[in-house]
Amino acid sequence: MLGLMQEWPLVCHKIIDFAARQHPHREVVSRSVEGPIVRMTYADIRGRALKIAQLLDREGFEPGDRIATLAWNSGNHLEAWFGIMGMGGVYHTLNPRLFPEQIAWIMNHAADRAIFVDLTFMPLVEKLAAHVPSLRKVIVMTDAAHMPETALENVVAYEEWLKGADGDFVWNDVGEDAACGMCYTSGTTGDPKGVLYSHRSNVIHAMMAAMPDAMGIGSKDVVLPVVPMFHANAWGLGQTCPMIGAKMVMPGGKMDGESIYELLDTEKVTFSAAVPTVWLMLLHYLETTGKMLPHLNKVVIGGAACPRAITEKFEKVYGVEVIHAWGMTEMSPLGSLCTMKPEHAGKSGDALLDIKQKQGSAPFGVEMKITDDDNNELPWDGKTFGRLKVRGPAVASSYYGGAGSEQFDDESWFDTGDVAHIDEFGYMQITDRSKDVIKSGGEWISSIDLENLAVGHPEVAEAAVIGVPHPKWSERPLLIVVAKEGCSPKKDDILAFMKGKIVDWWMPDDVAFVDEIPHTATGKIKKTTLREQFAEYKLAG
Ligand code: ADP
Repeated sequence: MLGLMQEWPLVCHKIIDFAARQHPHREVVSRSVEGPIVRMTYADIRGRALKIAQLLDREGFEPGDRIATLAWNSGNHLEAWFGIMGMGGVYHTLNPRLFPEQIAWIMNHAADRAIFVDLTFMPLVEKLAAHVPSLRKVIVMTDAAHMPETALENVVAYEEWLKGADGDFVWNDVGEDAACGMCYTSGTTGDPKGVLYSHRSNVIHAMMAAMPDAMGIGSKDVVLPVVPMFHANAWGLGQTCPMIGAKMVMPGGKMDGESIYELLDTEKVTFSAAVPTVWLMLLHYLETTGKMLPHLNKVVIGGAACPRAITEKFEKVYGVEVIHAWGMTEMSPLGSLCTMKPEHAGKSGDALLDIKQKQGSAPFGVEMKITDDDNNELPWDGKTFGRLKVRGPAVASSYYGGAGSEQFDDESWFDTGDVAHIDEFGYMQITDRSKDVIKSGGEWISSIDLENLAVGHPEVAEAAVIGVPHPKWSERPLLIVVAKEGCSPKKDDILAFMKGKIVDWWMPDDVAFVDEIPHTATGKIKKTTLREQFAEYKLAG
């Protein structure tokens, strides 16, 4: 027997329709690439998105076409997303921090047919265009006055292009299961892999993100997504904010401490989201200027483990609640958020900080489990760690083009590649990446725990731990250290500092000193390169 309720497809243009109807005056404020602050409303964004959809449709672009964006966070970028989706197309965010060859590879793999580009990235597109034969049109997000000279063909200035449409267009309803967005993982290992979001997954994800125990935001909030729209969907904020009618403040290309502070202050931002590095820059700026954060209530910190010192400063010095979060491009991207359940009521000080070091619990719509290498489920005791697997309506079911199929099993579980433990209250804590975990005598050692411990040494600037082959134990940990400027720490001092803080068999067998540790485009330690570099390394024992 079927229910007698209406079929109301979960499609993304309903989000912007809602925002324009229920919150027409709510602002989307952007720091433009050209410089000045630009103010729009959700009604404006919808009106301009309709024009974009109309123009793309008129120019022969078709539902399912991948239309790239190479742009900072801005109202223009947001309306481009809704315009592309409203035509039935697929917005494809490109990460400008990747190498040009990688971007060209990704564009060819996706067969992008057009690109919306910020002025900043015109030189990049000029390099790329000749290598991407599928590309038919370049839309430069500026006006005629700021349009640069270019030898590229089929280039238009966005504002001039928009003048050719009246916006009298009906959204192209492609159904809730149709693709609407695309983002490639950064490819720390192997080629980048394409994640293809559907209208339905984006709508459900936005609902999940807004829930009280997730981000917990509403129409009274002023939201500053520092996390770029090209980094894992801006953690869903591009859909979540219009869905709840929150004002948005878009930082453009400036993410240094002073620029972020300026927007937090002038726009009275209540909620923001970014990776730890951005918050470190802001906290440094606040410390050196003595400024405070009177408007900011909450920040989401994720993308990499949030150092305890950041949480402590935000909460104790500035009165800002920290929500540590974990996710992946493959999960749209939210997987867990560390907000407090009633079981933790009354906790404060170090006990609260201990919990906030965890990546948190899964919202409705994310199922989690941890398993051993043979897929046996492990207990949620807050100690036993294993491979973290997830499934849900906003989790990828495969990659575009079929790569990486070994990460998905018959019951839809996606192996995240992360290693974690989960406690009795459902709070998950990442202990490693499964490729980085050190397998010593059949037992696992967390490289991240060792790194976090080593950077606590006053003379260590950065640390990385990799497993190196060992005749008896199969692998043993090697600690690789970059010393702080002007310091030359000794191996034995560092090891003595670590001793007693971890079980003995976790202690690194050796310490190697280097000038620099290699990083990926998203700022993570590139362990693949380190492993190659130290492939022949003989442990001193
Ligand atoms: P990339 O940053 O490589 O482009 P993602 O943003 O999808 O791609 O990265 C997802 C990975 O980042 C996760 O699998 C996990 O290893 C790591 N990660 C994300 N958030 C956290 C966090 N809060 N703590 C530790 N690791 C995290």
